[in-house]
Amino acid sequence: MSSLYEKKIDTLKGVGKKRAELFAKLGAPTAGDLLRLYPRSYENWSETVPIAEAQIGELAVIRGSAVKAPSEHRIRGGMVLYKVTVTDGADDLQLTFFNNRYIKMLIKEGESYLFRGKVMGTFSQKTMASPEFTLTSKSMGIAPVYPQTQGLSSRIISQAVKNALRLLPQTVKDPLPSELRREYELCHLGYALENIHFPKSMQDLHTAKYRLIFEEFLELQIGLMVLKSVKEHKNLHRIPADYPADFEKLLPFELTGAQKRAISEAVADMSGEASMNRLVQGDVGSGKTAVAAALCYAVTKCGMQAALMAPTEILASQHYQSLSVLLENAGVRTVLLTGSATAANRRILLEQIKQGEADLIIGTHALISETVIYHNLGLVITDEQHRFGVRQRSALADKGDSPHLLVMSATPIPRTLALMIYGDLNVSILDELPPGRKKIETYLIDSTKRRRAFSYIDKHLKQGCQGYIICPLIEEDETGLSSVMEYEKVIRRLLPTAAVGILHGKMKATDKEAVMGEFAAGRLQLLIATTVVEVGMDVPNAVIMLIENAERYGLSQLHQLRGRIGRGQQKSTCILLSDAGNEETTARLKVLCSTTDGFQIADADLRLRGPGDFFGKRQHGLPQMKIANMVSDMTQLKKAQECAKKIIADGRIYTDSYKGLRASTRLLFQRAGDHIFN
Ligand code: ADP
Ligand code: MG
Repeated sequence: MSSLYEKKIDTLKGVGKKRAELFAKLGAPTAGDLLRLYPRSYENWSETVPIAEAQIGELAVIRGSAVKAPSEHRIRGGMVLYKVTVTDGADDLQLTFFNNRYIKMLIKEGESYLFRGKVMGTFSQKTMASPEFTLTSKSMGIAPVYPQTQGLSSRIISQAVKNALRLLPQTVKDPLPSELRREYELCHLGYALENIHFPKSMQDLHTAKYRLIFEEFLELQIGLMVLKSVKEHKNLHRIPADYPADFEKLLPFELTGAQKRAISEAVADMSGEASMNRLVQGDVGSGKTAVAAALCYAVTKCGMQAALMAPTEILASQHYQSLSVLLENAGVRTVLLTGSATAANRRILLEQIKQGEADLIIGTHALISETVIYHNLGLVITDEQHRFGVRQRSALADKGDSPHLLVMSATPIPRTLALMIYGDLNVSILDELPPGRKKIETYLIDSTKRRRAFSYIDKHLKQGCQGYIICPLIEEDETGLSSVMEYEKVIRRLLPTAAVGILHGKMKATDKEAVMGEFAAGRLQLLIATTVVEVGMDVPNAVIMLIENAERYGLSQLHQLRGRIGRGQQKSTCILLSDAGNEETTARLKVLCSTTDGFQIADADLRLRGPGDFFGKRQHGLPQMKIANMVSDMTQLKKAQECAKKIIADGRIYTDSYKGLRASTRLLFQRAGDHIFN
């Protein structure tokens, strides 16, 4: 099997240079990858129904033979219609095909065919328009339907897969040793590959699928466990148990009960025997930054350094601005290190960090670059945790001598997923918002109401409030989605008195910061932006948000975006604009109109879209799954998790018979940029 990953796809019959490129686009540059390009769905040709029982409006497969040769009819516009009457012995079915002159050759009188299509017509005369068909003698049974790309049909892929399967040796080497297959009742890889593509029955398909899902989860679990190997570290950075009491005096507000609880849980960890490993989960606006600040304060007061890593420059600099001001009076020396620091400035910063002249180091992933050497790193905090890969997280910790770890996430996720992504962390939950927050009213509208939305915004701007407009694109393209650039023009024309700024990811960091500064200072009233504002903007006077093409985003992401408003004492309004119109999208977006509870929203999101989309594109830092689904395949997930724990604990994974499994695990994680078992 592994040698098939060296076999280029164009060595297969029927695959030339051109098609090879298309196959590569689908993720199958080699024969081995092709065998792992699993069907998206299946067409079941094996369950035929008598014409009399076929339901009008439903998809059906009917076995029948042509009563006589197809007849040809010229209709308007130079189109040619072919009609065929077929019978199953008891009833007739009328078939029509448009402009397909091969029909006369393909459907012969008296031969038996299978026809698959939507049943139309009336009870007394059922019809099918352009059904797919095949000779009964050549029936495919259950036919695979592959993810397609322009120029590469499911049929072509199917043929190539057939050819690739022929290349498999008599005895395929299975990465899962037979002892594991026996214990977890899994079929052999050879059988699984054969039957995931061309199953002889639904039962065979199920057996194949079960094994492949298990295998994929097993690799995922093994990889994660090995990557993290979060063994308990001895606490080398003890702090006294009662520190943050004087921290509270620095704050302009009273901590919420939830914040106090989270802080004391973390302080208890850091004063205990083992070093801290904790996740703080809290909805947007729940005040995670204050928790981070308290812990940084506690650690730096004990003469150690703390590092706070944020996913974007905007967020890092926002943290820097609020924390440096807050902690300055307590004598904490705070620095900001991001990729856009000038060379000279960077040299100074690195020196300060190395000499221990900086106590709190805030930054982006620049914090983990090789040239950064810490003096005495006692605490590492990553904010918006889900945006970092597994690797990046541990890289920061590796910069110190087993420092305490705190991760903060605003994406509330179900416990099962949390365990997978974060491993065995302790969890503190901020389930209480700071007092005085007004509920955000959320409305879903379509573009016929856009003008009204504009005048609503205009009215509020004139009252001295601020607002955001969010577009999916920076510049206009062929997709027809809204773009920041176009929108700015429109708004300047329609709301000529408004002070408008734009913000997007392609702007230079200094420009972004300038715009944000202007907006925060109230000199800009309306910010037209992409989702770069998702994290990091904290402007209490901003009370309106209009989100264009709302259907483009996941619920959790919309929830995060919406969290930019509703931060002050005034009522806030979020307007979701979508012309998608279909029921599913509407139902999804309505969830946001009915609740502001992040956990409820995350649950709905996960249920409706599955985990891949839930986290956005690879935001979770996990490798892409090909067949396994973390929500619907929970059974296999749990078993695989248990299995992975066992074979790692007893060391089997490092033995010879698990070489194949190590290799496939390495491959899975390589694609996500992580290196294990090398
Ligand atoms: P998030 O959890 O989304 O990171 P932040 O830490 O940015 O939330 O806090 C959101 C806002 O709430 C900030 O303006 C912060 O100053 C304010 N805040 C945090 N804690 C409290 C509190 N206990 N009382 C009042 N305001 C608070
Ligand atoms: Mg935050």
